[in-house]
Amino acid sequence: MHSPKLPAAILLLCLVLPSLCRAAETAAPVFRAGAATSNITPELGGDIIGGFLPFPATHVHDELHARCLVLDDGKTKLALVVCDLLGVHRSLCKEAANLIETATGIPATNILISATHAHSATSAVGDAPRKYGSDVELTNYQHFVARRIADGVQRAANLLRPAEVAFGQVDAPEHVFNRRWFLKEGTVPVTPFGKTTDRVKMNPQAGSPNLLEPAGPTDPGVSFIAVREPNGRMISVYSAYSLHYVGGVGAGHISADYYGMYCEALKRLLRNSENDPPFVALMANGTSGDINNINFKNPRPSQPPYQQMRTVAEDLAAKVHGALTNMEWKTNVPLQAGYREPGIQWRAVEPELLSWARGLEPTPWGVRPTKNDLSTIYAGRIQRLAEAIPGTKAAVQVLRIGDICIATSPCETFAETGLEFKKRSPFPHSFMVELANGYYGYLPTPRHFELGGYETWPGTNYLEPQASVKILDAAIDMATQMATGTKKTSN
Ligand SMILES: [Zn+2]
Repeated sequence: MHSPKLPAAILLLCLVLPSLCRAAETAAPVFRAGAATSNITPELGGDIIGGFLPFPATHVHDELHARCLVLDDGKTKLALVVCDLLGVHRSLCKEAANLIETATGIPATNILISATHAHSATSAVGDAPRKYGSDVELTNYQHFVARRIADGVQRAANLLRPAEVAFGQVDAPEHVFNRRWFLKEGTVPVTPFGKTTDRVKMNPQAGSPNLLEPAGPTDPGVSFIAVREPNGRMISVYSAYSLHYVGGVGAGHISADYYGMYCEALKRLLRNSENDPPFVALMANGTSGDINNINFKNPRPSQPPYQQMRTVAEDLAAKVHGALTNMEWKTNVPLQAGYREPGIQWRAVEPELLSWARGLEPTPWGVRPTKNDLSTIYAGRIQRLAEAIPGTKAAVQVLRIGDICIATSPCETFAETGLEFKKRSPFPHSFMVELANGYYGYLPTPRHFELGGYETWPGTNYLEPQASVKILDAAIDMATQMATGTKKTSN
């Protein structure tokens, strides 16, 4: 058991007044942590929404979860939740946060809820993109997910016990590929809007002789926060890696993709499945808006369902597990949270584009498209985007866990934004988690808006072109405020 450091004067008094010493020991803050999971698997029959053509779920390959970690420094509590979902709408996060605040007293600003971006899941983004708004009515499934998240956090809070924290990072460059490519002149396809303005292509044909070079970097780092009991028994590992879903599931299957498999693999490697309370791993999505698992230059042969995601998951788990043996554990871990809605606007739709969209017969919302006709799909999205309720409430959150700093973005955020946060953050260990506290489409940087391509098309991108700059600036500003006047901590 870690012995609290008492000021010398109190120690002296302790010699003559043992009761005072006991009182001071009780009063010394003890860092605590607890973790739990909630099953959020939907009913069969709902639409799996990863692609342009939704189709009904007919099988559950592996259950979906909300994985929850609660930290408590004796003064401040933080809750970190990762959901096996494509995205979580802001209104769902608000509902969950209200339930959590009522049950546990953890304030909404201290609760980080993110989605992994698993594509083999049904929708928790609800009406988006039927209606572009920050506050929407929740569907039954969204109510259910909010309730299950709140239960998971409450159970994690019930399990709070003395804990130590360590930060780690391992590199896994072999699984991440930038999916936006410059192609040979004249080979970038026409946009769904009939334009030839795109200079890059998302997901070009792997192995194509037209490939020139990727349009951006990758981030190979798996950042992770490990939490254990003072006796060494693991409580939880919160991880983040900048990789889109891997996919390759069976037809109609619900699955948590590599994110869920990583959590199971790490648990197996720790050989503590009999532990009570159980170890809980979490794998958040870092900044993977332009990153996937397809090796475009040297394509892999196709594989049976689930094989590639298992390869990725088990490799990441083995790397993180290997690093756990050499960590610097701390018990003096001050917690802080910051939350801001930095006044980001919806993407403006130019009049010319709107009249193009109005000239087409868009697929109505709620009708399952019968063919992959991008022009009519985007015509509908553009018409709805032009009617967006003005002013988004897109949020940025910063959590400080000792000398570790997590910033969030509510979008599919590009790798270079996450890399820049890691570089500019004043904290020694920093990383970003995307698709957090809301779902606001893709977030290209201003440079990528110039290059065009799928992620920049209105209806794939919902927010103004400066949104990535505003989000990063808000994150750096909050992190800097937390770091200013705070001495580097150690124990
Ligand atoms: Zn995506």
